[in-house]
Amino acid sequence: MRVDLRSDTVTKPTPEMRRAMAEAEVGDDVFGEDPTVNRLQEMAAEMLGHDAALFVPSGTMANEIAIKVWTQPGDAILVDAESHILHYELAGPAVLSGVLVEPYPIERGQIDPGEIERRMRVADDHTPGTTLLCLENTHNRCGGTILPLDQCRALCECAHRYGLRVHLDGARLFNAAVALGVSPQAWTRHVDSAFFALSKGLCCPVGSVLVGSQEFIREAHRVRKLFGGGMRQVGVLAAAGIVALQTMVDRLVEDHRRARRLAEAIASLPGFEVDLETVQTNIVYVHTARPAREIEQQLAAQGVLTIALDPHRLRLVTHHDVDDAAIEYAIRMFQQIG
Ligand SMILES: *Cc1c(COP(=O)(O)O)cnc(C)c1O
Repeated sequence: MRVDLRSDTVTKPTPEMRRAMAEAEVGDDVFGEDPTVNRLQEMAAEMLGHDAALFVPSGTMANEIAIKVWTQPGDAILVDAESHILHYELAGPAVLSGVLVEPYPIERGQIDPGEIERRMRVADDHTPGTTLLCLENTHNRCGGTILPLDQCRALCECAHRYGLRVHLDGARLFNAAVALGVSPQAWTRHVDSAFFALSKGLCCPVGSVLVGSQEFIREAHRVRKLFGGGMRQVGVLAAAGIVALQTMVDRLVEDHRRARRLAEAIASLPGFEVDLETVQTNIVYVHTARPAREIEQQLAAQGVLTIALDPHRLRLVTHHDVDDAAIEYAIRMFQQIG
């Protein structure tokens, strides 16, 4: 048996998506003339409660476009110390936007607004001005944790009081929404821009959608072109996104239930520890007594694929292509190698 728990990005498009892709009506999207892309963008903007949206090739590009639009070279931006922007985007903010990235602390997904306030820089002859606060929900490196709604509101209020913009990296925003049983707008109503990924738990082959005001999206469209992300008859990809928003959101609860089962079973085994409080959606971090790389290899030999993220930390992610039987098999393999 093969159980791929490395990431929810390994999900394959469903048969319904493939049909929609084959039949998609298309046009030149750089001219804004792809009707399927336009429909996806309208749906996304409405679901997140913003005026406009832009289909982009990746979540990384969505973040980097937002940073570019909201800043000038020499500005400072605040990102949390465990964020995707800081760890996995190749110093993109420095390279693409020329900004100083200042990390603020995050602990098990929790952020103290006081820490944001302490790091706020007011521009003068010596100091770059802070112009953007970035948030992440759910939080990848913290274990798929949900940004608490009251914290999101307090952080945005604080940022706006100082004249900062707020961008939300919501690669797994729908996981957070489904887990709490609320609309994604519970978070996005407070922020100036946000994106969600179609290519993770929602199973699309490619794509993310960035949302914001008309003015923000107009500028984002230019920056997307600058970054080489202007695509042409891309309705063939957007078609899968429409199916995803219609059919793949509510089922994310299944992924969360399976992550919980996996986490609780592994937590009870010697040699492994799981912080069960952080298992809130579809990601499970396992702390390993032995080197994580060794466990990763032993599991892989049994067909269970994971990622050793840190020397003693394994990441497991549940998704559409992992069913109950696969979860039980993975648990048996953890028991066997433990
Ligand atoms: C995956 C991810 C991204 C980037 O998405 P890509 O489409 O892989 O570029 C950004 N932020 C978070 C939190 C992610 O998990």
